[in-house]
Amino acid sequence: MSLVVVGTMAFDAIETPFGKEDKIIGGSATYVAYTASNFVKDVKQVSIVGYDFPQEELDQLAARGVNLEGVEVIPDKKSFFWSGKYHMDMNTRDTLITDLNVLADFNPVIPESYQGAEFLMLGNLMPALQKSVIQQMKIRPKLIVLDTMNFWMEVALEDLKEVLTMIDVLMVNDSEARQLTGEFSLVKAANKILTMGPKYLIIKKGEHGALLFHNNKVFFAPALPLEDVFDPTGAGDTFAGGFIGHLAKTRNISFENMKTAIIVGSAMASFCVEKFGATRLKEITKADIDTRLQEFVQLVNFDIALV
Ligand code: AMP
Repeated sequence: MSLVVVGTMAFDAIETPFGKEDKIIGGSATYVAYTASNFVKDVKQVSIVGYDFPQEELDQLAARGVNLEGVEVIPDKKSFFWSGKYHMDMNTRDTLITDLNVLADFNPVIPESYQGAEFLMLGNLMPALQKSVIQQMKIRPKLIVLDTMNFWMEVALEDLKEVLTMIDVLMVNDSEARQLTGEFSLVKAANKILTMGPKYLIIKKGEHGALLFHNNKVFFAPALPLEDVFDPTGAGDTFAGGFIGHLAKTRNISFENMKTAIIVGSAMASFCVEKFGATRLKEITKADIDTRLQEFVQLVNFDIALV
């Protein structure tokens, strides 16, 4: 059940209608690792940080069994910095600042001890680097999942299209699926994306759940209706961590098991949004996760008598 996770480890500045944080730990790989470590021991992390990234944050990840051999520390540069502001509906946000800093000359090197991993989670990162990681894996992992965002579609579309031909599962949100294909209908967008490389597509719809497409099949996982959504930052990466964490734990990549995996992803994302940054993800226990998964079962379980 070996899992390699690639992505950013960052500082974020976040403003939501319910509060503001000027400098909080974030990054796609940070959220994926905190989440996946509930399911997989020895998550093999690949990322880059600067001199300013707190050692205690790395220690906390290590204490959860996250292997940091593939995390490069650059002594004279700052960590990646992202700043975003949410609107009242919390489903839309504006990116205010993306400071690449250490990411600008990141050239990920996969440690020898990471070779042979069966699962590869390419978290949100420059598409060319996602491609470089795939090329460095001497044995192709049995499942490669890729997350991306509008930013990379704007600045690196050709690289993104190329890496799409090398992966199994693509994760994007609804507006990114539309941006990538020029189709407004999500079903049309999905059909187009499934001709671009990935055999499976997950379209995340924030508080409206997530859709899983494969061939002509589609499955829907709701999001848990929550009274208070505090900060949605990282919800997509947390979803990814739950999805791949479940698949890696069960070592089963069938469509049926992916259905369960998107429910697990949705359950994990529902924790993430309850507090700022990754705060809630650090608190939750296995019992909390099991209880939340039960709530999902209740949410979608119904009988119908067709007469
Ligand atoms: P999400 O809310 O799941 O889309 O993820 C938000 C996290 O992604 C934040 O913690 C950011 O640090 C990180 N992030 C934002 N923009 C980028 C980017 N262009 N590439 C990689 N990571 C990013």
